Amino acid sequence: MSTTTLTQEELTMSKNTATPVPIAVAHGDGIGPEIMDAVLRILDAAGAAIQAEPVKIGKEVYLSGHTSGIAPESWETLRRTQVFLKAPITTPQGSGYKSLNVTIRKSLGLYANVRPCQALVPYVPSHFPDMDLVIVRENEEDLYAGIEHQQTPEVIQCLKLVSRPGCERVIRYAFEYARANGRKKVTCMSKDNIMKLTDGLFHEVFREVATEYPEIESEHYIVDIGAAMLADRPERFDVVVTLNLYGDILSDITAQVAGSVGMGGSSNIGENFAMFEAIHGSAPDIAGKNMANPSGLLQAACLMLTHIGQGPVAERIQNALLKTLEDGLHTADIANESFTLQKLGTQEFADAIIARLGQEPKVLKPVRLGESKPIQVHVKPTAPVKKELLGIDLFLDWAADDRNPQVLGDQLAQAAKSVGWKLKMITNRGVKVYPDGMPETYCTDHWRCRFMHAPVEFLENNRDVVAPQITDYQAAIQLQQAVFTAGFDIIKTENLYQFDGERGYSLGQGE
Ligand code: NAD
Repeated sequence: MSTTTLTQEELTMSKNTATPVPIAVAHGDGIGPEIMDAVLRILDAAGAAIQAEPVKIGKEVYLSGHTSGIAPESWETLRRTQVFLKAPITTPQGSGYKSLNVTIRKSLGLYANVRPCQALVPYVPSHFPDMDLVIVRENEEDLYAGIEHQQTPEVIQCLKLVSRPGCERVIRYAFEYARANGRKKVTCMSKDNIMKLTDGLFHEVFREVATEYPEIESEHYIVDIGAAMLADRPERFDVVVTLNLYGDILSDITAQVAGSVGMGGSSNIGENFAMFEAIHGSAPDIAGKNMANPSGLLQAACLMLTHIGQGPVAERIQNALLKTLEDGLHTADIANESFTLQKLGTQEFADAIIARLGQEPKVLKPVRLGESKPIQVHVKPTAPVKKELLGIDLFLDWAADDRNPQVLGDQLAQAAKSVGWKLKMITNRGVKVYPDGMPETYCTDHWRCRFMHAPVEFLENNRDVVAPQITDYQAAIQLQQAVFTAGFDIIKTENLYQFDGERGYSLGQGE
């Protein structure tokens, strides 16, 4: 890691000679315009070689009839610039409006959300003065695929989708980020003791990728105890990589325990596009009052400068911000009796940072970024596998006969037998209720019925043996026809595959 020794004059000269990088800039809603103005002034004074191109997003765009909150012409600017500095927006109340962030993340393939969290004790109070970690959250998959269905009067499902390339891309990014930023350890968090296939894949890919970075320590935590550790001893973590939902929760926990939700910035990284923003929202309660803290958006802007190869400028800005805090110049949200000498408005706080460009903090650790290159991640192509269909799960909506699993099982077994299938088990919310269920198990109207295709006698005599491959999918259709004809309401089917001889589905609890 090298330190920058450029003077303000040299920086201004380098800015004048460097070709400005075009970036899309959205001023957003609420406090957005005032903090964006403050941030752009600081970037300009620090010598950032950027060319801001405004894009329209947010409340006005929503209310003018664009339900995703972005004007159609703005997409062209985003695609061309490939870099987006975004102030917070206000999403109007009402069910018709879609989250702009989710739309941008998914449309532009922003696979990693990166949120650095550092304590700034004693100037921003936190119980963990040594905390300095980065959460890298998978950003496109998991339960956020947004695929939900109500299947019966009682039961609704949300699909959790996890892909090998999706895991590999974000995990590689976490290791590359660690390498580029001199970080020593990457911790994976998942719940693979319960979700053995989805979270199991994330953990497995983590183990594989970790072997390619021998200089970086790697470890894994089950996410529940991992979250508890993050809240209790955050200083023992460095880079944390995790799935989408866990990352959403963990990154808010860490921002909170760092004591600085209003101070944090984040980046959303894709292959050809990146978006940078503050962690906080549009704070309508203080909008237009020159009270907002611009630090979160400024931190985001520094992540952006690093991303476009202007690390030394980001370093100067971050050190000037730290020096401003040390000098007791604070916005209202972080003002405190012990360390605040002067409470400043948004623009005056920006002026104080500008006045300290080129200075470094004395108490807080100075930031060292040095020259930076954009992080490139290459995902290996998926190897061909042998995929074999072994059976089928039929999901039924059934509430007859006191929901007695034995009655259901006997009828289904009969229907299946007539077309050469065997009913292996029935579960209700994942718990086996047939054969040999427990009378205490509460049953909803949603039943998963597992059928294997094989000569019935064979399976009768070999209860633990997996049925042979179904070569003709026609047999699966015949089963569905037989179950339907017997009067059952099939709400969904899932095929049971094995891949290269490995079971590709979970067993029922008690199966
Ligand atoms: P918020 O983060 O806007 O505000 C929470 C509290 O923190 C408020 O008291 C606010 O005054 C304070 N605060 C936030 N940022 C601050 C800053 N920079 N300086 C000083 N104080 C600050 O969260 P909210 O009130 O739940 O949401 C308000 C609006 O923001 C909602 O419409 C929400 O949808 C939107 N929002 C947008 C984003 C985004 O654009 N990425 C993120 C979160 C919330």
